[in-house]
Amino acid sequence: MPESTTIAPALEQRLAQLIARSGPIPVGRYMAEANAHYYATRDPLGAAGDFITAPEISQMFGELAGLWLADLWVRAGRPANAYYVELGPGRGTLARDALKAMKAAGLSPPVELVETSPVLRAAQAALLPAARWHDDCAGLPENGTLLIVANEFFDALPVRQLVATGEGWRERMVDYRDGRFVPAAGPPAPAAAIPDTLRDSPPGAIVETSPASAAIAGALAERIAAQGGAALIIDYGHQVSSPGETLQAVHAHGYADPWAEPGERDLTAHVDFEALARAARHGEVKSFGPVGQGDWLRALGIELRAASLAAAAPERAQEIAQARLRLTAPDQMGSLFKVLALVARSWPDPEGFR
Ligand code: SAH
Repeated sequence: MPESTTIAPALEQRLAQLIARSGPIPVGRYMAEANAHYYATRDPLGAAGDFITAPEISQMFGELAGLWLADLWVRAGRPANAYYVELGPGRGTLARDALKAMKAAGLSPPVELVETSPVLRAAQAALLPAARWHDDCAGLPENGTLLIVANEFFDALPVRQLVATGEGWRERMVDYRDGRFVPAAGPPAPAAAIPDTLRDSPPGAIVETSPASAAIAGALAERIAAQGGAALIIDYGHQVSSPGETLQAVHAHGYADPWAEPGERDLTAHVDFEALARAARHGEVKSFGPVGQGDWLRALGIELRAASLAAAAPERAQEIAQARLRLTAPDQMGSLFKVLALVARSWPDPEGFR
């Protein structure tokens, strides 16, 4: 097909052509291509976008994340050469609020952001003009302590789906039939791809794994072990590896069909915290949690912070109380969202995980 005669086809067309040429593609490839397009072409956050995140709900979230890091850094003996690192920083709101809280504790680290979206890099630059950007974790500085935050980053990374057949496992693929993307059974998958606690799942069971997430958690752990520091990972997902399909699409603050309009909806999957902690174990770090976001925020003093913000701005007292509930209540973000910490072995234990 002559390439010069067409402008770049929409992602849907490109994926459909790819499938027509070489057959169904793995679910992970579909998710990776869809999200790369999605984030590269828009700022999805906020009322006018597709979803809202904790740092966009209230400054208290970023402030407490910053205090958590600053407290660890102080108790570790205030090592020189500390960097603030954030993965998938969105609009930069969390980083701005965390850095403000860290500064009050005597810590003003250089800012290193891992972000692939040009649109979101521009938004981050408006709040964090002195930051440096990286396409992936490999480019992060190798000569100092890393104070790392990742909020709703891992849920956007591609998952692999595997289906139990009763006689082993098959890769789940995405086919394109009659103008629609549809899941389809693929080639056999090795049992080693399934967490050992799930290998006996009944026929029809779907298991999701995220090799990309495990690779990043492993790399962060190795860096922290070698350079000192900690990583704070916050996301929604499950504490132990569990079967079930969690891949979902979100559009305009509601659920949408993940197999329609790839690249125009946010695709996410539940984060498997057990798998993240397992991947990090190779890196000689201590891991803490996951605990519920509500418990963690309460342990760090969100009630006090909310009270002092409300005292300083009584006209906003109700809004502040609502934001606190949204972040902490078990039927809102308090339980489904979880917090996992990875900390260098030579560092003290972190707050909020008792
Ligand atoms: N942490 C922010 C934004 C969450 S949205 C908040 O809490 O508001 C997911 C973020 O991860 C976006 O910034 C998106 O551009 C980024 N992202 C998604 N996939 C990525 C990848 N593979 N590499 C780097 N950044 C990615």
